[in-house]
Amino acid sequence: MTLRGVKGTQDILPPEVDVWRFLEITAAEHFEAYGFREIRTPVMEYTPVFTRSIGETTDIVEKEMYTFLDKGQRSVTLRPEGTAAVVRSYVQNALHARSSVYKLYYMGPMFRYERPQSGRYRQFHQIGAEVFGTADPKVDAEILHMLTQLLSRLGLSELDCQVNSIGCPECRPAYREAVRNFFRARLPELCTECQRRFDTNPLRIMDCKTPKCRELRSGAPAVLDHLDPACRTHFEKFTRFLEILNVPFSLNTNLVRGLDYYTRTTFEVIAEGLGAQNAVVAGGRYDGLVQEFGGPATPAMGFAMGVERTVALIRERFSYEKRPRIFMAALGQTAEEKALELASELRRRGVATELAYDGGALKSQMKRADRANAEYVLIIGDEELSRGVAQLRNMTTKEQTELTLDRIIEHVTSLP
Ligand code: ATP
Ligand code: MG
Repeated sequence: MTLRGVKGTQDILPPEVDVWRFLEITAAEHFEAYGFREIRTPVMEYTPVFTRSIGETTDIVEKEMYTFLDKGQRSVTLRPEGTAAVVRSYVQNALHARSSVYKLYYMGPMFRYERPQSGRYRQFHQIGAEVFGTADPKVDAEILHMLTQLLSRLGLSELDCQVNSIGCPECRPAYREAVRNFFRARLPELCTECQRRFDTNPLRIMDCKTPKCRELRSGAPAVLDHLDPACRTHFEKFTRFLEILNVPFSLNTNLVRGLDYYTRTTFEVIAEGLGAQNAVVAGGRYDGLVQEFGGPATPAMGFAMGVERTVALIRERFSYEKRPRIFMAALGQTAEEKALELASELRRRGVATELAYDGGALKSQMKRADRANAEYVLIIGDEELSRGVAQLRNMTTKEQTELTLDRIIEHVTSLP
């Protein structure tokens, strides 16, 4: 029987894993320059961490969570996103006591029981960042600045950064009513999903991806017209700061986001080239969540980037440069032992070195060196060994140099 991976999961194989690591390292360096520190939370949490924060009537909680009872009959969920877990940790570890403004980033796998398709997996990965402790719209603008700078470092400066404000618990109920009133007459035409949302979470209709619902919402009330004065000022300052920072953005008044905890600023970064699953980054402000988790009133703001979708965008431009510097071809038992010894010395000095295991004729070892894409082959034979020499072959120019054994390490480590 052939065993297969779980549906909707993927193996990240070489050399593509290099693109992942490049993205992770670039993001980490970039975020740290903006004062963010990494946090690592467990991949599982007690279920209420997600149900209470993301919201009972959201897609994630209603149908996408990997929830199970552990042997102690406690309900545990594989994290579907990062923010709720980071907030749980922020409160549990009293991170608010460390500094009034606290900046964290994370990266790792997330789990959602979705219908697998291109750009949508059951285990996927996010790189995210959160700022706790200030409602200042400068932070909202700065986070978008940090993000768009990262995207342009990755060669993705053409992406569309869409922003909106969804108000606060004071002004949103009136907007929710306006949306409900607007769709009441159109109810029979909405998709079945949205008919259900009409009662439970009407704002989600504004975010529905089906073409019919998209069409039906033209002329729907815009949330920006329903903001209270404080939320309106916050949004105006936010967009003004974006302009000062030269962050390119567009307004998308339909952008409501699927999670309940968002307040005020919401945003999404869209890539045209990705097809239907075209949202690469999503985020927003969540001023009430820390308090809801039992912490002190702490405004916060953050985002999460989809790693698979970002990798899909940068993969083409990425050149896979990893190749062994030296391939050891050894002929005869004494030569093999010498090669083993030399390889260990070269590797200790950081020179990527491969050995021709299983010996064989020189021709076959050269073939293996070629397949490994080695830059040089160091050929050692028992006869050469007795003369105290070895041959270094440049695989690009085919030039061959004779080296004395005592000079090999020195010569190889100083190759250009
Ligand atoms: P979508 O509308 O595509 O379902 P979402 O609103 O559910 O996205 P968020 O919860 O905001 O997504 O997650 C942020 C980012 O994580 C998304 O913009 C996307 O890049 C990525 N993402 C979300 N779900 C998946 C998934 N199942 N597979 C791969 N990437 C995903
Ligand atoms: Mg989703």
